[in-house]
Amino acid sequence: MPLKVNEIFFSIQGESLYSGIPCIFIRLSGCNLRCAYCDTAYAWDDGVHMTIREIIDKAGCFHCRLVEITGGEPLVQNETPALIHSLIESGYTVLLETNGSLDIRKVPSDCIKIMDVKCPSSNEADKNFLENIRYLGTKDQVKFVISGLEDYHFACNIVKNHCMNVPEGNILFSVNTKLLPPHELAAWILKDGLNVRLHLQLHKIIWPQIERGV
Ligand code: SF4
Repeated sequence: MPLKVNEIFFSIQGESLYSGIPCIFIRLSGCNLRCAYCDTAYAWDDGVHMTIREIIDKAGCFHCRLVEITGGEPLVQNETPALIHSLIESGYTVLLETNGSLDIRKVPSDCIKIMDVKCPSSNEADKNFLENIRYLGTKDQVKFVISGLEDYHFACNIVKNHCMNVPEGNILFSVNTKLLPPHELAAWILKDGLNVRLHLQLHKIIWPQIERGV
């Protein structure tokens, strides 16, 4: 079965421990959530159908061995684990950005997962499937998008009670800079002595005026 693909492009990875490294992005169509701050709503529906072979051929145009599968939410498409498997077989290091609401056990273990836990400001925090955290490996990462103090306290509580198996450096507190100045989040983290990683969306700093394809 083909996958529905919104866009494939080459850019700088901006949202994980791989931030700053050139990366091919495969943005799949469709999402099961409707986050209040979503900046990729254009991927909820639009896309073209491509076979796994066609996707891998397109990725091969970019002379890069790091690829990220993103969305939308990639795991709404049943063929996504097969795509990940084929990319790994083809020699790629594969990152998966997932919103944390769907079971990640079907994702090949060699794939590096960057999993969101949705905070209250998303209006989708009740969709978190926290059991996923138990199945994360040492290379996987947990990301919280934080828009204010309520989100911060929510994230601290999840870290304390659910993230014991996640290396501290792999827990990302990502600032929603439209609503929260980074220095405020930095101050909260330092005051509370948290060993989490303050995270800025690098691609939005590099290309502040460009909303797609970066
Ligand atoms: S999960 Fe991601 S793509 Fe889906 S609505 Fe939320 S921010 Fe947008």
